[in-house]
Amino acid sequence: MTRRNDDVSGGGDRRSGGDGDGRTVAIVGAGAAGTSVFAQLVAALPRAGGAPVGSVLVVDPSPPGWGLAFGDDDPLLMCNSAVNVNSLLPDRPDDFADHLRARGWTGAPDTCVPRAAMAAYCADRWSSARDTAARAGVTVRHLPVRAASIRIAGGPPRLRLDDGSELVADDVVLATGVHRPRVPRGFAAFTGHPRYLDSPYPSARLRAALGAEGRRVLVLGSRQSAVDAALLLCRDGHRTTLTSPSGSLPAVRLSLHAPPRDFPPLERMARLDPDDPLLERRLTRCVVEAVRLLGDRPLRAQTSSAADPVRRLAEETALAEAGVCLWPGVAVAVIEALTAFADGLPADRTRALMRRFDWFVGRYLTALTVVNARRLLAHCATGALRVAPAYPESAVFADGVWRVSAPGSGTPETYDHVVNATGFHPPEVTWRADGTELLLRPGDTGDTVLDRLEADLRVRRAPGAPPERVWLAGTGTHVRIPFANHLRTMTRQARWVAGQVASGG
Ligand SMILES: Cc1cc2nc3c(=O)[nH]c(=O)nc-3n(C[C@H](O)[C@H](O)[C@H](O)COP(=O)(O)OP(=O)(O)OC[C@H]3O[C@@H](n4cnc5c(N)ncnc54)[C@H](O)[C@@H]3O)c2cc1C
Repeated sequence: MTRRNDDVSGGGDRRSGGDGDGRTVAIVGAGAAGTSVFAQLVAALPRAGGAPVGSVLVVDPSPPGWGLAFGDDDPLLMCNSAVNVNSLLPDRPDDFADHLRARGWTGAPDTCVPRAAMAAYCADRWSSARDTAARAGVTVRHLPVRAASIRIAGGPPRLRLDDGSELVADDVVLATGVHRPRVPRGFAAFTGHPRYLDSPYPSARLRAALGAEGRRVLVLGSRQSAVDAALLLCRDGHRTTLTSPSGSLPAVRLSLHAPPRDFPPLERMARLDPDDPLLERRLTRCVVEAVRLLGDRPLRAQTSSAADPVRRLAEETALAEAGVCLWPGVAVAVIEALTAFADGLPADRTRALMRRFDWFVGRYLTALTVVNARRLLAHCATGALRVAPAYPESAVFADGVWRVSAPGSGTPETYDHVVNATGFHPPEVTWRADGTELLLRPGDTGDTVLDRLEADLRVRRAPGAPPERVWLAGTGTHVRIPFANHLRTMTRQARWVAGQVASGG
């Protein structure tokens, strides 16, 4: 087995697991979700019954905290959720604000900070949990490598790592986040093309791919990732066009912040019948009634109905800045009420529900922060940024340029680069056809994607089969939980998983 100079604290070599006292826990993925599991696991150990945990192995090629979601140090990339919903510890909702204030931050808790501040916070909480574990005699090791699969064939789970080595653990938590970019309509053939970038992240890669000279760039997408791409590109002097099938930008709000009050109409959602043919209308009514509790201003006077996306952006930015935009106050409560409503529904029902509400989620629940909206408008005003009226029907690359045609556009438009910013596939875990191995990537023919999860968040070979000692946390739970990528949902799951693992559950 290969040995590396891994980041170690605590006792002796437990690399292969199970060769010392206590159980070995492996956490795969040390981004926000993995860090939340780790911190809450360490906190739970002193009061946990059952066989004690002797070592924790954290497997991630990136440094703890610096995952795809938050681990980019470009200050233009902001969190979308406010400081007051970004605590890694659900029992201490002010933990992130406390961390920031201890470093001189004086902002309001319902505002957003750069994503790197969140990554630094995760890294800090990771280090302090590691020190606490070491004082309790628990070995903690960060293995900077990617895990490929988990072999589950009778004995304890065996993790296969990308460097060819293997790890044995008693319990495994998978917290791998998103990483596989979606393939935008009409561009599948260009994956790997030197002038096509599959994602705007990390920003350093985007900068390196485009160089310092001003380029003409087509960004595919018009939601959060596309907004990030536009902000980075325009700042760096590139002329940028956003295009998406909807052609519309998200709505504008201060932030996704903690609910300012209770919303009884949203509590009603839990009692709705999932099979009711009028479900969509009834859910919408719950949301509208909840918004009314925040003030008398009619909902239609809180948003713009302008057809032109930039005009709509300008009008909604003005509303948000004037403080008359009340609907964002319900967003977190709506996410959590919908999550509770859908929890336990069959996966295909949840997917169908989410599809029906995609317009609402894409435009309102994942709305833009007013800071980013203002920045976009400034780039539109200088002509550096525009939103295309239609999505391309064809794209060819020849003689060093892209020629892109949209319906009704006449002459094709030319671009130097295309950047895909349509987001990421949710993480997929796949059972090998013989049922002995879980792959942390899409499988081959005959393999089956894990598409079902019980409330315990443990992996099973089939419905009704006994649970394996493998838990999912974070975005991987999307097969059961809508909004599995909502940080507050994730930290509560992490608390549950950490408690189960700590007690040997
Ligand atoms: C660009 C972006 C911005 C976002 N911003 C917000 C926001 O502002 N607010 C919010 O609430 N949500 C945001 N989200 C949603 C986000 O997915 C959730 O908040 C999620 O909880 C982030 O934590 P995570 O640990 O799942 O992902 P990450 O922090 O991305 O961590 C995943 C980790 O898993 C590691 N990993 C992946 N595969 C393997 C493997 N095979 N072996 C070992 N390690 C592996 C990666 O290296 C990475 O470090 C954002 C998502 C993205 C993609």
